[in-house]
Amino acid sequence: MSRYDVIIVGAGNAALCAAISAKEQGSRVLVLEKGPSEKRGGNSFFTDGAIRVGYGNFDAMRNFIELDEETTNKIDMPEYSPQDFYDDIMRVSKNQSKPELIQQLVTQSLPTIEWMKSHGVEFELNFANQSFEKEGRIQFWGGLPIKTVDKGIGLMRSLFNRCEELGIDVWYEAAASKILTENNGVTGIEVKTKEGTKTIDCQNVVLACGSFEADKKKRVEALGEEWGAALVRGTEFNTGDGIDMAALVGAQKFGQYDGCHAIGTDANAPRVGDFQKPGDIFKKHSYPYTVMVNVDGYRFVDEGADFRNYTYAKYGKEVLKQPKNMAYQVFDAKVRPIVREEYNLDEATVFEAATLEELALKIDIQKEQFLQTIEEYNAAVQDGEFNPSVKDGKGTTGITLPKSNWAQTISEGPFYAYPITCGITFAFGGIATTPNGEVLHKNGEKIQGLFAAGEMIGGIFYENYPGGSGLMSGSVFGKLAGKSAAIHATHAQAVK
Ligand SMILES: Cc1cc2nc3c(=O)[nH]c(=O)nc-3n(C[C@H](O)[C@H](O)[C@H](O)COP(=O)(O)OP(=O)(O)OC[C@H]3O[C@@H](n4cnc5c(N)ncnc54)[C@H](O)[C@@H]3O)c2cc1C
Repeated sequence: MSRYDVIIVGAGNAALCAAISAKEQGSRVLVLEKGPSEKRGGNSFFTDGAIRVGYGNFDAMRNFIELDEETTNKIDMPEYSPQDFYDDIMRVSKNQSKPELIQQLVTQSLPTIEWMKSHGVEFELNFANQSFEKEGRIQFWGGLPIKTVDKGIGLMRSLFNRCEELGIDVWYEAAASKILTENNGVTGIEVKTKEGTKTIDCQNVVLACGSFEADKKKRVEALGEEWGAALVRGTEFNTGDGIDMAALVGAQKFGQYDGCHAIGTDANAPRVGDFQKPGDIFKKHSYPYTVMVNVDGYRFVDEGADFRNYTYAKYGKEVLKQPKNMAYQVFDAKVRPIVREEYNLDEATVFEAATLEELALKIDIQKEQFLQTIEEYNAAVQDGEFNPSVKDGKGTTGITLPKSNWAQTISEGPFYAYPITCGITFAFGGIATTPNGEVLHKNGEKIQGLFAAGEMIGGIFYENYPGGSGLMSGSVFGKLAGKSAAIHATHAQAVK
């Protein structure tokens, strides 16, 4: 008899939510993690902890976020319903996301947060990155006010602690390499460990081992040649093993294989996520309040098209397309005080000068075109009140590439230039599942005993991504897949 009812592959957020959920149902659970214990937690460990929830109204958050009365009274919190969350995903994916999956994600988001809280995960409001103060009021914007305490580090610490409390076994340096099946049902899994390859009998496997962004060859094949030059923001271990293993047993590949989440990140960030430097400290996300220029001196996107939460994940690709795969974000003295905290870290690469001419000499840019671009942009900026808490409509007119919101002249020294390049977060392609995480065969039937969660599920994200959805997706589908696997295990035993 097998020692385990359910085996979870991976030890990121989706995997550990699946493990805890299966354990709650009474299953004996084993977690297999490819990395060593000091590199555990996957991409989830690297995150800012921002998590998108259809919370409804401010009152509903009080069940899982503690706030004192004085602060509460100062907060203006826009309502954000599951339907708003649904609409945001559908809008940014141009209606390509699979409706049943998104429906499940948005309706389960709030109950799943409450469930995580019951297992020791702590949440707080993201004052630093998702609100601005105006006339004594703290105004939130962009549907993403919630984060985990101590970012992804805190999230993963809480989940690992809970697994330990519940007696869930975790094997490190144990890379799942093959799913064993008989008659369209899982019978076991092969694992590469330091002692050699082992076979573990088990009829229920949850694949939660991420996407393939850390495998350069696969990245280039799926996304295009230029993606060889992208930095990998997170774990080195997400090399598409889960997708390969699932496909070998007939699973249907699904979702946008030529799409990914990628951002503008510090040009000097590590080539692949450094577990000694988590916390998402290299991103540079205050571009909506300024302009970005390439080394030829030209702008290349509407920096103010929407709130950062709805553009950052698609603008990395635009940075990658620029000469030398890089660009500069240019700020002047009036905007510098409101930029996000990552700009103030020691890790931030910055060039500073008293004038734009001097700045141009310090950076790698075509000076005359750069100065002309800024001059034309400044002339195109329209009057109006700058307000970063709303889409203020303060845009430009008369330039070919407009800026739709938050346009202010770049005119007060000192001036700052932050060099950025493209950092890939994860790829959108995955495998097909039901809304309960059951993996579908190419023939449309369920593969008995095989489940998936997190970045492995295809069909959720296309083209773009509303910030904070990756963690929520991992939590929702992790919890569901773990429960589905446990129920399947119980059912199989009852049948025996
Ligand atoms: C720098 C950064 C910042 C981010 N910030 C946010 C944010 O603030 N909010 C948000 O919602 N999303 C954020 N994301 C995206 C988010 O991390 C992911 O969408 C989400 O965490 C994915 O969870 P997961 O459990 O599917 O994968 P992961 O957390 O990546 O876990 C996968 C695990 O599987 C393991 N593994 C791989 N192959 C095998 C194998 N063969 N056998 C065993 N184990 C294996 C890996 O080692 C890893 O531990 C960020 C990502 C990065 C990189």
